[in-house]
Formats: sequence, structure tokens, C-alpha cells
Amino acid sequence: MARIIEFGQGCDIPAARRRPTAAEARGLAYDAEVKAAVDHLYPKVKEFVTPMEWPAIAPFVHAINMLKKQRGAVILAHNYMTPDVFALVGDFRGDSLQLAREAARTDAKIIVQAGVHFMAETSKILSPDKVVLIPDLRAGCSLAASVTGADVRLIRSKYPGLPIVTYVNTTADVKAECDITCTSSNAVQVVEHVAKKWGVDRVILIPDEFLAKNVAANTHIEIIAWKGRCEVHEKFSGEDVRQIRDAHPGVIVLAHPECPPDVLEEADFAGSTSALAHYVKENGPKKVVLLTECSMSDNVAAENPGVEFVKPCNLCPHMKRISLENIYDALLDMKHVVEIPEDIRVRAKAAIDAMLALPKPTSFPKFRIGDPAVPVEVI
Ligand code: SF4
Repeated sequence: MARIIEFGQGCDIPAARRRPTAAEARGLAYDAEVKAAVDHLYPKVKEFVTPMEWPAIAPFVHAINMLKKQRGAVILAHNYMTPDVFALVGDFRGDSLQLAREAARTDAKIIVQAGVHFMAETSKILSPDKVVLIPDLRAGCSLAASVTGADVRLIRSKYPGLPIVTYVNTTADVKAECDITCTSSNAVQVVEHVAKKWGVDRVILIPDEFLAKNVAANTHIEIIAWKGRCEVHEKFSGEDVRQIRDAHPGVIVLAHPECPPDVLEEADFAGSTSALAHYVKENGPKKVVLLTECSMSDNVAAENPGVEFVKPCNLCPHMKRISLENIYDALLDMKHVVEIPEDIRVRAKAAIDAMLALPKPTSFPKFRIGDPAVPVEVI
């Protein structure tokens, strides 16, 4: 019978002359035990990992899965993780809020956050009794870095009596100073809820300027925005969309609401990462482009083999700091433990709980396109 895949057969450099792989440097080999345990997983990543690369990856997958069992740990894998992390070692997959909810629900005592630091903090906020590990402390976020708790206190002193909503992409310190959190799935709902509850027609929505402007186009509430940007989504432009349409007639353009408003004006659909994945699954477009982080396209493509993906995407350098190598190291050495001072954690949790108390949307909301009813003030 013909062998479909011959892993590792393409390289004939003598072992003594080639540099050890990252796995070999840690004493992990692609041996018979590893082959038996994980080779069946290869089809999940065959579009992204060549047969020649697999022997360098498989030992990590096996070692991570063994360590998870030994330690009673789970891995939360964000949609922007590379397919090897997302599909091969992630126990729960999704957007940041879905992952934090799973963190709170799971019986596992140890959580490894395959995502960025504010996500690990959100997991810790909701799961104070669990050990939360982030494999690389440098996995930050341009949005989370754009605002501090001290900034929020200043905003509150300048706009007394107005509710402050924070997107979940912020530090625990910032969440602790805000009244409620939101995600890109429920931002319009949260803004309208707090305006009604506080009896006001203006709401402060931080830190993403573009999300705030896109929300403003979908509500009658006046929005005051902060000048934070996602360094991945701010790079897209309406002109990019027109060029993609010229080069790929008939392509369906899906955009994340952290993109500038002129991108959403040119797109066919805009929504959160979960909404974009849902759109592809439900509608099965022939050809699609996801204007968001690159690995998201790879992960959605792996689950929708009949759909052609055009990929003019942007990489998030912070998400890309997380790898199989440092997930293995994190589980082996139990590093880096995420800690939050209890008073900040409790106040940050109150802001998240206020959002979680709202009815869960029954469908994925689409961002309508257009100019805000009231111009957005950016502070
Ligand atoms: S994609 Fe943007 S919002 Fe997400 S972690 Fe990277 S910089 Fe932050």
C-alpha cells in the first residue's frame, strides 16, 4: 500500500552536521512513541505545515499533551494563534471572552493562555483560584497599551456623570476603573444599555477609536472615544478593499470592526472574529477575504475546505510571540504566572460581570455601515 505521507524523508544532511531543532535541543525526539501518539493529527494542519516540518513539531505536540495531563492543565487558544497551536494543542478555541468564560467553567487548576497578556488577565480575573500562565510576558497589545488606569481617572474627572465602557482589550487596571466592559459582538448593546441605565445620551467608549466610530454609526447615542488603535486592523483601508475586489471579482469581503470606518463601508459584512467565522460557515462563499489577523484566515480556512481564501492579512506581532516551544516551556517550568492585586481584580470583575449580566445576543450582530448620527469626539 502506498504511504500517503513520508514525514522527514526530504532532508539528507547527516545528523552530526545539522543544527538541532528546538525540540531536539530540549531532549524531545520524533520517535516511535511520538509518531504513534500524534501523527494522526497531521491532517488538521497539512495546509500549513509541510511533511518535512512535521518531525520538528510533532514532539512538542506530544510533550505538551502529556504535560497537560500530568499537571491537570488546559490551553485556551485564541482565534489568532497559528494553526499548530490552535488546532493541535488548544483545548478551548475562540475569541477572548469565550476563552475567559471557559477559563471560569473548567475544572482544570492550571490555565495556559495562548493569546496576549490582557486575555490572561481576564482569565485570572474570572478564575482567581486557578493558576494562569502566559508563555511569553512580552505578548502585549497596542490597544491595551494605549490607556492606563490613571488615564481613566482623568477622563472621569473631565466627564463626571458619564458612564465609561471599556472594550475587553485593556489591562485589569483599566477595567477596574470602568463601569462595564464590552466586546466587538456586544459593543452597541452595552453602550445603549448604560446610556439608558444612567439616563444619559453620551457614553465614553475606550480605547479603540475605530471600534468607537463604527459603534457610533450604529446607535443614536453620542460616543466619546479614546485614540487607541489596533496596530493590525488600522493598517487596512477602503482602497485595499477596492483593489482586492478588482483583483478577485466576486470575492466576499468580511471585516473586523477594529478596522477604520472606510473599510467597513466597502465590506460586505463586519463583525467580531466569532461573527466572521460564523458567516463563512453559514454562507459558504466561493471566495472570501477576512480583513483581520492572518492566522484567523488560516484557522477558518482549515474548517471550511470548500471556500477559497484571499489572504491580504496583517500579522499581530504580539500574538505571534506564542509558540509551541514557549507553551511547552511554560508548562514544564510553570511560568509565567499571572497575578493581579485583589482590589483591582475585584473591581475589574465587577465591570466584566456587569456585561455578562446582559442578555446574550441570540445572533451575531452585523455592523451597519454609514456616518454616525452624532459626530464622535476623540479625546
Ligand atoms: S490583533 Fe490588535 S487588538 Fe488583537 S492583540 Fe494584536 S494588537 Fe491587540
